[in-house]
Amino acid sequence: MADTKIALVTGANKGIGKEIARQLGELGMTVLVGARDERRGRDAAAELAAGKIDARPVQLDVTDAESVAAAAKLVERDHGRLDVLVNNAGVLREWFDKPATPEDFQDMFATNVTGVVTVTRAMLPLLRKASASRVVNVSSEIGSLALLSDPNSDQSAVPFYAYSASKAALNVVTVMFANELRGEGIKVNAICPGYCATDMNDHQGVRTPAQGAAVAVRMATGPDDGPTGQFRNEAGPLPW
Ligand code: NAP
Repeated sequence: MADTKIALVTGANKGIGKEIARQLGELGMTVLVGARDERRGRDAAAELAAGKIDARPVQLDVTDAESVAAAAKLVERDHGRLDVLVNNAGVLREWFDKPATPEDFQDMFATNVTGVVTVTRAMLPLLRKASASRVVNVSSEIGSLALLSDPNSDQSAVPFYAYSASKAALNVVTVMFANELRGEGIKVNAICPGYCATDMNDHQGVRTPAQGAAVAVRMATGPDDGPTGQFRNEAGPLPW
């Protein structure tokens, strides 16, 4: 069906990414389930397909340029365009009692920042072929300088130097892409899903991954006169 929208979600084999894929699929989109591990991607796509979603696995490690290029080639071959890209894959390699090492910093930046730029650049020719494409970057409130610098905020009590720095950098990248693509009608926004129970935080989050996914889905399906270059959670715009 020519009208069926094609959506790619990175890191969609579990957690918030899988729920974003599920919700986009429930809206009738064909969802490409990005996963760095082929088997995990196949299993997640099969689970979604069992719920009557047109879900297809795509091997995609955001830190591996060859894997990203191969994924773009596959999307081009099978679909010829991309309507929605959700840059969801992310890593957190520090905790309250475990500060990030220099290697952890590199890992987090490679996935949470450089990976997003690599994937977005690789998919841009396909996004340009869709009529109203949307890019959503899954960021975090603890990447907000405004919230981190408010001593009364909850965010200022979280000492995740590398993760927060990587999400602040992702916010910069979001604005840069939004500026670059504004004239082409491609909207690029960052979202925060809230504190969701996933493997990333040992399931300590207070929201479900499905609740976290909803704002990403809303921005992935926003109208032509909707925002670009914004940072939002489900309640509305967040301060940078
Ligand atoms: P999660 O359950 O740990 O899922 C992370 C996903 O990213 C997994 O599918 C993982 O794949 C994938 N991934 C990691 N490195 C990758 C790489 N190099 N290439 C491709 N995929 C990769 O965590 P989550 O909580 O759902 O996190 C999803 C996003 O939400 C992240 O960007 C995170 O920073 C953000 N976020 C989460 C929360 C929260 O409270 N959970 C709050 C704010 C923002 P594997 O299964 O192969 O590891």
